Amino acid sequence: MQIDVLTIFPEMLQGYLEQSMMKRASEMGAVTFNYINPRDFTTDVHHCTDDRPYGGGPGMVMKPEPLFAAIESIRRPESRVIYLSPQGHPFKQARAEALVNSAHLILLCGHYEGVDERVIETLVDEEISIGDYVLTNGALAAAVVIDAVVRLIPGVLGGGADATAQESFSSGILDHPHYTRPVEFRGMQVPEVLLSGNHAAINAWRLQQATKKTQRVRPDLL
Ligand code: SAM
Repeated sequence: MQIDVLTIFPEMLQGYLEQSMMKRASEMGAVTFNYINPRDFTTDVHHCTDDRPYGGGPGMVMKPEPLFAAIESIRRPESRVIYLSPQGHPFKQARAEALVNSAHLILLCGHYEGVDERVIETLVDEEISIGDYVLTNGALAAAVVIDAVVRLIPGVLGGGADATAQESFSSGILDHPHYTRPVEFRGMQVPEVLLSGNHAAINAWRLQQATKKTQRVRPDLL
């Protein structure tokens, strides 16, 4: 999978994508990350990527010319262009599971008041929101989407298919509680059933706990 990120702040993403599991995914060849800076596609001496909004109002808008030039320089027939936007469809695990089958993702990060609408109308296949709040910039949202997708590529996490199959949302509900050593910590015990070696009993307990938490915190999932 190739992921190209269009951002005027490539360092924000590099900081995240060049660590831990994303670094591992890249090193094992599961994914290639490229950073494309719209400033490199400007033609003026100041490398200006924004301008004032028609109709007035606060803030600036990302200009269409550098974004068209940047996207058209990398887009291929199999590319999927995603604009990170608070106006997009809410991002869910099911969308990450579908996007993992893409050969080439182009993620467009907005800044200021966002991008000129003609970019969205003409070049964007899908708008994704990571939540009902407004960030200053799309880089953080791109990192969220990339992480959720890339960790689903087989082999990236290690631990086989179970590593992602037994998580929150994958089975429709939230995950069960987890414990590790020591068996007692500050008077708090690991539940007895987890020490029993009885896998049927452990699975039943985990399902019961996961269902209870889902009922309490996210009844909308049930
Ligand atoms: N004027 C826009 C609005 O009210 O819908 C907000 C623009 S926001 C300040 C700047 C950029 O941050 C957006 O273009 C987008 O790329 C990114 N962004 C902000 N919130 C986001 C969210 N919840 N999900 C995805 N991207 C977001």
